Amino acid sequence: LPQRLQGSAPSVWNEYIALAMEYKPLNLGQGFPDDAAPEYVTKALAEIANDENPLLQQYTRGFGHMRLVQAIGKLYSKLLQREINPLNEVLVTSGAYEALYSAIMGHVDVGDEVIIIEPFFDCYHPMVKMAGGVSRFIPLKPTKTEGAISSADWVLDEQELKNMFNSKTKMIILNTPHNPIGKVFKQKELELIADLCKKWNVLCLSDEVYEWMVFDGNKHIRICTLPDMWERTITIGSAGKTFSVTGWKTGWAYGPANLIRNLQMVHQNSVYTCATPLQEAVARGFELEMTRLDSPECFFNSLPRELQVKRNFMAKFLQDAGMKPTIPEGGYFMLADWTNLEKKININSEPDKYRDYKFTKWMTKNMGLQGIPPSAFYSDEHKHLGEDFVRYCFIKKQANLEKASELLEKLK
Ligand code: PMP
Ligand code: GLN
Repeated sequence: LPQRLQGSAPSVWNEYIALAMEYKPLNLGQGFPDDAAPEYVTKALAEIANDENPLLQQYTRGFGHMRLVQAIGKLYSKLLQREINPLNEVLVTSGAYEALYSAIMGHVDVGDEVIIIEPFFDCYHPMVKMAGGVSRFIPLKPTKTEGAISSADWVLDEQELKNMFNSKTKMIILNTPHNPIGKVFKQKELELIADLCKKWNVLCLSDEVYEWMVFDGNKHIRICTLPDMWERTITIGSAGKTFSVTGWKTGWAYGPANLIRNLQMVHQNSVYTCATPLQEAVARGFELEMTRLDSPECFFNSLPRELQVKRNFMAKFLQDAGMKPTIPEGGYFMLADWTNLEKKININSEPDKYRDYKFTKWMTKNMGLQGIPPSAFYSDEHKHLGEDFVRYCFIKKQANLEKASELLEKLK
């Protein structure tokens, strides 16, 4: 085994997808919508498959299909109030996942330190390890554990964050809106991170795949728009999340040309080019949405409106079942403290090391309801911080959310 793979193991997704296939629970685990994708998006793909232009079925430009990089360039130029060059400041990737990989492999050298905020989307750390880098972890911690808890109550300790930065720090990975907490970082919180990046000459890799899913009038702030941050930020997005087509695995990164070039090199030497019809369809989706960004019909506005209702519904049934949910300000996941249920169930029949793994497996097998164990989103030394929680996904059909609610009733 090459050294860069030593200690690697299949991720929580591999394990929990297999579990779902075996037990066929109501699956609120892996994050994806279980309802039909927006019709105009899937229709575009069907039209492309039958388009008279034969080139739409062939290889396209390696760093991104022209129509898509142009659409992405145009959209973000408007959102950032800065002209983005679609040819060298945008890279289309095989999902946001590959954008993360290309950014980390393209910038992190052996021995470089990367600051990762916990809980974190689970691939960040293995990717840093693959690059030969060293992850340094800092947890978000809840300032409240009773009463109504919001994702805004999960915060970084300012001094602890300051102490993470040193001359070996290459990068900090930010994720806002956050998976799994749903935290939408506030201006002040982003300013602190930005100031430290500037002080220590550190890159910010900003994973913003849930950028359109923000609730209660909260505002998603792109850290690359803070003063002097454009030149040190790589921002990542996902068509899977943006258009509710996670199976399309189409993502992107944007940032200054000198930083994006490194990603292009990794991409060219691994994926090389992404599927043409999917990129064409995503481009057409963006083109349509750009004509109605301020209208309530724009998918980027209707989706969060609909999701907020689902969020509220889930928060209520989790609470009624005796759990303590953290109400997310964004994204499509909810963390809930499940430990009040411990006296009613015997999860020790599951041999796992961490209690949240025991709980989620027990629930899948005995109650037919699957969630994700959040300790998967922590470093070894901090896994205990995730053990009292379960993560549920709420971008699901109302009928399925109701079914989940009924299943939990049985625990009352
Ligand atoms: N980042 C975060 C925070 C995610 O939750 C996900 C999961 N979809 C990704 C990146 C990867 O996105 P994609 O499916 O576009 O690869
Ligand atoms: N982002 C999704 C989640 O967190 C999907 C994860 C994955 O498939 N790797 O559930």
